[in-house]
Amino acid sequence: MTHQIVNDKANEIKVNCEEMLPPFQVPENSQEQIAIVGGGLASVHLALSLAQRGKTVRLFCKDNALAQGASGNKQGALYPLLTPENDLLSQFYQQAFLFSRNRIQQLHTEGFHVSHDFCGVLQTGYNQRSTDRLNKILHAQDWPQDIVQAISAQAANDLAGLDINKDGAFYPLGGWVCPAELTQAVFAKAQTLADVQIRFNSKITSFEQTEKGWLLHTNEQQFGPYKTVVNACGSGLINFEQTQYIPASNFRGQVSHIPSRNDLKKMKAVLCAHGYITPQHNQLHCMGASYVKDDLNRDFQPYEQLGNLEKMQQSFGESNWVSDIDITGNSARVGVRLVTRDHFPMLGLAPNYPEIVKQQKALDKNNKKLAEQYWKETRPAHFEGLYILGALGSRGLCSGALAAETLACILCNEKTPLSEEYLERMNPNRLWLRKLIKNRPIY
Ligand code: FAD
Repeated sequence: MTHQIVNDKANEIKVNCEEMLPPFQVPENSQEQIAIVGGGLASVHLALSLAQRGKTVRLFCKDNALAQGASGNKQGALYPLLTPENDLLSQFYQQAFLFSRNRIQQLHTEGFHVSHDFCGVLQTGYNQRSTDRLNKILHAQDWPQDIVQAISAQAANDLAGLDINKDGAFYPLGGWVCPAELTQAVFAKAQTLADVQIRFNSKITSFEQTEKGWLLHTNEQQFGPYKTVVNACGSGLINFEQTQYIPASNFRGQVSHIPSRNDLKKMKAVLCAHGYITPQHNQLHCMGASYVKDDLNRDFQPYEQLGNLEKMQQSFGESNWVSDIDITGNSARVGVRLVTRDHFPMLGLAPNYPEIVKQQKALDKNNKKLAEQYWKETRPAHFEGLYILGALGSRGLCSGALAAETLACILCNEKTPLSEEYLERMNPNRLWLRKLIKNRPIY
């Protein structure tokens, strides 16, 4: 069977830097510039937040256009992640959701093209466990109506425009966004505000620390030195000597493109259950997504296409419209997201894992109290000037903008929009630090 569209690169909008700008030269004052390695949502959001503060930014991207990695999908769902306890994670995602939504609205108002529809997101359970969990979330807190509402089966049908026939949760300010266009628009706006340039086809193979700052190496060239470098390489974040130990894992995901037809055309809200499906855009619905650990292969997989359909059947199987989902065109896009176990993104200085291990080994193994005291007073070793922004997982549309804004504040010595407590939860060293304080070996 031939695959009509695989990875769908043909339809992706390409901003080719060679057409827009000559490849940038690295001038004498490169130390004053902030270098970002990336090309997806994390890096462009950071470029925009820095440009808003008048900073000079140089981006290095391995591909020939923006958003060729996880950020290249046609549609993604935007809604907050909530927990029954409304803990820090849940509070972070609510703030991030509103921040991201505002940024998209502002871009749109300013004339930047970002296909999106804040049509609301409808979430339902797909088995007893998930239904119980959703109910627990809905009833454990007095949530603001703008964030989430418990809705009846009848209201679900009305809001979805389709037979759902189940109670559920409705996120009225949520919806879908085209991440690929958002990436382009955020970058385009950053360029209107400050000296922000990108160098495509530049795969950074290593970071070298020198007295004058960091050198970035490709196979052919070197750039810098930069005092400040941000690794925002998405799934590639852990491919560098300094960041290889970061505790985060890559998960491949395939999003299926479904032709809009029959009842599917009536869909009015993003539907999330076991997987998700979006209302049509350009005659296609996005349905996803598979979740395969440690698989970096980006080829189309027929069984993942089928898996996406089966998730919809499991979630909404009794509704007629599910039979209108046609996967036979084998149209899909594959990306890889970097995921943390605690679902927080990572932002901050890159920890120096080998040095932290040395720090721990130098302590008396049997003295728990001393270890606890030591790690409360001593900063785990890190690489000065080398930062991390990423591990946005399956929620980058929601978390990316606020995570980047926060890092921009750190880089500019400003007060951050998130308190110290959140920063600790997003610090790339957090998972080790938890063990260090308990005197558990991290090596
Ligand atoms: P990426 O977009 O992958 O960008 C990384 C960039 O780094 C790439 O452009 C690459 O060119 C560049 N790069 C990598 N290595 C190097 C190097 N050595 N040198 C130079 N450049 C390099 N989120 C939602 O909120 N809602 C959704 O519905 C949703 N659905 C998803 C479905 C799938 C299948 C996937 C994969 C992700 C989904 N996400 C969703 C998550 C979201 O897309 C990601 O969290 C987000 O795009 C990650 O952005 P990023 O910039 O960190 O990574």
